[in-house]
Formats: sequence, structure tokens, C-alpha cells
Amino acid sequence: MLRPVEGEQLTFARNTQGMKIGFIGLGNMGAPMAANLAKARHDVTGYDMATVTVDGVSTARTAEDAAREADVVITMLPNGDILRAVAAQIIPAMRKGAVLLDCSTVDVDSARAVAADAEAAGLLPLDAPVSGGIGGAAAGTLTFMVGGSDEAYQTALPLFETMGQKSVHCGSSGNGQAAKICNNMILGVTMIATCEAFALADKLGLDRQAMYDVVSTSSGYSWSMNAYCPAPGIGPKTPSDNGYAPGFASELMLKDLRLSQQAADASDADTPLGQAATELYRQFVEEEEGLGRDFSAMLPRFEKRGRG
Ligand code: NAD
Repeated sequence: MLRPVEGEQLTFARNTQGMKIGFIGLGNMGAPMAANLAKARHDVTGYDMATVTVDGVSTARTAEDAAREADVVITMLPNGDILRAVAAQIIPAMRKGAVLLDCSTVDVDSARAVAADAEAAGLLPLDAPVSGGIGGAAAGTLTFMVGGSDEAYQTALPLFETMGQKSVHCGSSGNGQAAKICNNMILGVTMIATCEAFALADKLGLDRQAMYDVVSTSSGYSWSMNAYCPAPGIGPKTPSDNGYAPGFASELMLKDLRLSQQAADASDADTPLGQAATELYRQFVEEEEGLGRDFSAMLPRFEKRGRG
């Protein structure tokens, strides 16, 4: 097996060893992740407050029942408050030495608080938010950004190998969430910058293909321009070529940007562009037509606007 090193990116082969897994939160992301674990012959028991059935996954009546006998309990939940509530339920039920692996995107403080409670109860906590979206969850190609002890990371590594194609051990508890929100703050800012630059180029009479050809090979290049170009028909195929159907929905970008600003407030970090991006996505989602549209739909938003 490849030996992970802190901060080092890993690409790994599939692993099919059986582990006993409790999986709590079988939504858009959790259901396909749990299905992939079951397909890889892990013994998976799932629980969701909604009635959900997942191929190959047995259903528990309560979160505690899903967690009780598990070697690893995975949570994939909407936010930090729900994670804290579920953790308070399941931590007392879990076996000592078991891993509590949270893959949700939550605030750093909640991740660290849950990890402290889990450690105090003799468990091995990990925060491991993902990138790759619903497509990556279904295909088993997620990337995990992981915070927690090396022992916990090593134990969970076969599961990261099954559910994803890459994991990065980012250090101690909360650092996975920190990596995720810092990355997505850059993404939100660069997507806005790319979209406003395209809208300016339009007004200056610059052809979009020419703009892409220059910027994608010049110092303005970024993932938002090169891999996820917001202009339809330019660059690789992206949600812009599909009427801006997500993709990565604007409201999920807003969630992550808000988490970045919550963390910046808590740690007294100056993030003026992160703050501006949060406010723009807030307006786009709450007051304009952004809800349910890909986050690159900022381009048609800027197209329609003038300076005033
Ligand atoms: P979702 O809303 O589809 O799923 C969440 C599930 O949790 C739901 O099925 C809900 O019934 C369940 N749930 C809520 N409270 C519960 C409780 N107390 N006990 C048990 N189950 C409970 O959300 P999702 O899209 O699967 O996202 C899950 C997490 O992954 C979020 O933190 C999200 O930010 C993150 N994420 C999502 C994406 C994406 O593209 N959807 C990408 C990366 C990260």
C-alpha cells in the first residue's frame, strides 16, 4: 500500500477489504458513497432521518444502531449544528478505538469540537470533507482533505481508496475543513474574476475565444478559466454548455464562502476578496436568479449589468 505523508497528494488503487461501517446521512452525496463501500464488500449499515434505501446497505432504525458495532462511522450531513447533534447521539454508542469519520463540509469550530468529544470518549476522529460533487461520489473519484491523527488516517485509508481517487492528510483535527474552505474561497474569487473579465472583454469588443486563448496561457490563467470556463462553447465542456445546470450549485458555493468568512472572523484573518465574493454569491442566490444554477452562471449575471 502507498504510505501517505502529511500534505502529500496520493493517487491510489482500489481496496476491497471488508470493514464494518455505519453510514449516517444518505443524501445526494452519502447514498452513492455508501453504495460504493457496499460494492467493495464492506459491511455497511446506514441511517438517515428520511426514509432512504441504498443498494447493498442495511438500514438501521436509529443513528445509534448504525454506529454501535462499527469499526468506522461515516457522517455526511448538511451542516455543523446537525453534525454536533448526531455526534452527541452516536459517540456514547460507539466502540472504543473506532473511527468517527465526518465527510460533511462544516465549520472548523464544529469539526474541532466534535473531534475533542470523540477523543475524550476513546475514539479516533477525522474530518474529511470532499471535493468532486455528486458525480465524483457516484464514480468513486472524490478527493478527501483530511484532518486528524495519523493512526485514524491509516485506518480510514482503505475507505478513502474505495470512495475516492485521492486523499491529502492535512494535519490535525479541523485541518481538512480548513483546507476545503480555503480552496473554495480561492475558487469563488477566481470564478467571479473570470466572469467579470469576460463581461468586460465583451464590452470592449474582444472575441471570447481570443480572450480564452490568451488568458488560459497567460498569467491570468486559473482552474476557473482553463478547466471550468464560464463562457459557453469555449474551452472544455462545462456546465455553461448545458444552460448552467450544476455542476456545483451557487448555493453550495455560498455555503462554503460563508464558512470561510466564519473561520476568518474567528481567527481574525483579513479576507477582503473572500468577503466580497460571499456578498456577491449571497445576492446572486438570495436576490437574483442564482439559486439552483451553476456557480459559473455569474457570467450571464455580469453580462446584463452596467457600472451603476
Ligand atoms: P443532502 O441534503 O442531499 O443530504 C444530507 C442528508 O442528511 C439528508 O438525506 C438528510 O435527511 C440527512 N440528515 C439530516 N439531518 C439528519 C440527522 N439528524 N440524522 C440523520 N440524517 C440526517 O446533502 P448532500 O448534497 O449529500 O451534502 C452532504 C454534505 O456534503 C454537505 O455538508 C455538503 O456541503 C457536502 N458536499 C456536497 C457536495 C454536493 O455537490 N452535493 C459536494 C461537496 C461537499
